[in-house]
Amino acid sequence: MTMPSECIRLTDVAFQWPSNSEYAIDIPALCLQKGEKLFIHGPSGSGKSTLLNLITGVLSPNKGKVEILGENLFEKKPATRDQYRADHFGIIFQQFNLIPYLSVIENITLPCSFSVRRNSRIEVEKKSPEQESNRLLQSLGLTDPDIASRNVTELSTGQQQRVAAARALLGSPEIIIADEPTSSLDADAKLGFVTLLFQELQKSGSAIIFVSHDRSLAADFDRVLSFEDINRNRRI
Ligand code: ADP
Repeated sequence: MTMPSECIRLTDVAFQWPSNSEYAIDIPALCLQKGEKLFIHGPSGSGKSTLLNLITGVLSPNKGKVEILGENLFEKKPATRDQYRADHFGIIFQQFNLIPYLSVIENITLPCSFSVRRNSRIEVEKKSPEQESNRLLQSLGLTDPDIASRNVTELSTGQQQRVAAARALLGSPEIIIADEPTSSLDADAKLGFVTLLFQELQKSGSAIIFVSHDRSLAADFDRVLSFEDINRNRRI
């Protein structure tokens, strides 16, 4: 069972793609503490994105238990699981997954359209989602006064990545998931991004799982795990 200080606990979780004869994921135990910054490194194709999809309830395990903030995700109906994801997770995708026909500000405020909970966390600070989005843009280094109204397709990769981070952080979800969010940036931009992200995590108190093949970013995380050490990847 999840302890009150934990936000994620996996117990004997196995997952197999239907087309494959071995488990892509076979993890005896993995947990994340509230507010913890966990870095998981592993080569491309080792199963990191599959693991993140199990943690966020996009994929269901064949065996085992995924507990998020003390609740077993897979005891919930799919629609409830989707709502749970919107309320408690901020996800920074590898390709950012910004909505191309929406402006920067519309992309960032999107989670508040799906989550009353995230909206109300902003309201208690007597702000609107737009005001908080603008604060996040500034804090993440997007200081151009016109940026909020621009279309996301006009932005550089580094700018898009910061918009994706602002969207994930809006309304302080308990858990931030980052799937190789720096893969298309140069070394200085990667480090700059992680520094700004950490400043915001400090403020929101969110935990983060950051997965990457690139260990150069691991230094400032609370804990660093090798994907091969947590996943047994056993043949069936
Ligand atoms: P990583 O994120 O570490 O690059 P992935 O989780 O994307 O790794 O992939 C792990 C393994 O699962 C790979 O062998 C990949 O081919 C397989 N895989 C990923 N997505 C699918 C899918 N939709 N159907 C079948 N196999 C998949």
